[in-house]
Amino acid sequence: ALKSVLRTKVPFKVGRMCYSSSSVPTTKLFIDGKFVDSKSSEWLDIHNPATNEVIARVPKATQEEMQAAVDSCSRAFHSWSETSILTRQQVFLRYQQLIKDNIKELAKSITLEQGKTLADAEGDVFRGLQVVEHTCSITSLMLGETLPSITKDMDTYTYRLPIGVCAGIAPFNFPAMIPLWMFPMGMVCGNTYLLKPSERVPGCTMLLAKMLQDAGAPDGTLNIIHGQHDAVNFICDNPAIKAISFVGSNQAGEYIYERGSKNGKRVQSNMGAKNHGVVMPDANKENTLNQLVGAAFGAAGQRCMALSTAILVGEARSWLPELVQRAKALRVNAGDQPGADVGPLISPQARDRVCSLIQSGVDEGATVLLDGRDVKVKGYENGNFVGPTIIGNVTPNMKCYTEEIFGPVLVVLEADTLDDAISLVNRNPYGNGTAIFTTNGATARKYTHEVDVGQVGVNVPIPVPLPMFSFTGSRGSFRGDMNFYGKQGIQFYTQIKTVTSQWKAEDATLKSPAVTMPT
Ligand code: NAD
Repeated sequence: ALKSVLRTKVPFKVGRMCYSSSSVPTTKLFIDGKFVDSKSSEWLDIHNPATNEVIARVPKATQEEMQAAVDSCSRAFHSWSETSILTRQQVFLRYQQLIKDNIKELAKSITLEQGKTLADAEGDVFRGLQVVEHTCSITSLMLGETLPSITKDMDTYTYRLPIGVCAGIAPFNFPAMIPLWMFPMGMVCGNTYLLKPSERVPGCTMLLAKMLQDAGAPDGTLNIIHGQHDAVNFICDNPAIKAISFVGSNQAGEYIYERGSKNGKRVQSNMGAKNHGVVMPDANKENTLNQLVGAAFGAAGQRCMALSTAILVGEARSWLPELVQRAKALRVNAGDQPGADVGPLISPQARDRVCSLIQSGVDEGATVLLDGRDVKVKGYENGNFVGPTIIGNVTPNMKCYTEEIFGPVLVVLEADTLDDAISLVNRNPYGNGTAIFTTNGATARKYTHEVDVGQVGVNVPIPVPLPMFSFTGSRGSFRGDMNFYGKQGIQFYTQIKTVTSQWKAEDATLKSPAVTMPT
């Protein structure tokens, strides 16, 4: 039912292309509280990654449409930022319930456009929902500070205030969670929000926008535009936009960080990863191998926190054949099929890229221990599937190690000692996530203290922090000063005003001008 509100089947023209009489559904823009058809002449196809059928189209919003969206945000900011914090809290209390009520429908739209399994898609929504639930604590999260009597009759206090129109630019791999890291946090602080979802998976975001409207968010508080580079440049350059939250690749993230910062905006940019799982020989073998396999191949490896690199330390090297056996047992299938463990990659280009990175390992002397390149999925022969792949004998100079693969591929390196493993992880340019598997507390402590990575798991393969903490990332995986959600998220979306006030009794009134610096 919700979907029919958001997409219409209307004939439309794309220049002289053959789409002119198409009845494929088109994705709307959300401007000033209305879901509107774009007047753009440029459209992109959205494919079901399991079949490569075109399931919808998304417009590249025109400059006028993008300007209308940001103007709507600017107008709405005046009243939304002055709306009582309890009213804003109520909107998000209703919102979290609506998301819970519609979790299955949201998950279905994710699986259709992104390809991940339905169970995993529900997890995608659920991790975003947790951030929305956390925004409902805004009445304590946004408290300022006070210090009474800093001098006679004088008190100082701070307000944490919204900053204005904020914008978010999202990637394809978490169609619910990552948009939900962005606009709920920004809006509950009193900002208005312009969101550009990934042009490859916009459907879930549109459903989320409709639910937010149903939860009572006033018109203009959230606007949604679609597009690629022009939309990104518009966001980086538009003077009304004060802050940009970006999640995606390094190529886009570094560009957006630089262009946005140069224009005086706050930018937080979460980027690529190469996450290492360090396996110590004293680890619980059964647990560790299952965790490694789940974290390497879940979501077909298209997670920024996927454990895509294993370092087997000392005698843990001998566990490799068993690791391969477990990975082999995973079922590759379309995400909506019962029992599917590993769904398709997002596009044929992504599939080709992953296969060529596997081949580069072979060419550089590594050994493919499990090869998913020729996987066939019955009934889905045109899908972008790659089966679980494990590459052994990998060394740090190989391309399959230096590049983020973003597919169901685990590269395996070996180390003699924990120190060697730490040094390997710290030499890698990325610092998003890592995990160590051990039963020794001292080993775990040494690793967590010495490794230069934002998120560390001890016997936890995907240590994505809950929203009362912040999602971090260091070195090549993050640019900016303040991270997503948690306390850092509140800081990112607010600014501080300090008020110093003096209220003197009548008989203490100043009798002459004080020309020296007050001390
Ligand atoms: P992407 O960078 O291709 O796209 C992200 C957004 O940037 C999209 O909205 C897209 O339209 C825009 N974009 C793409 N290329 C651009 C360019 N050259 N200039 C300006 N804008 C551009 O990323 P993706 O493929 O959608 O997502 C996968 C990447 O995201 C992986 O590298 C993954 O590690 C990363 N990621 C990181 C995190 C994190 O928190 N660190 C989380 C999820 C995904």
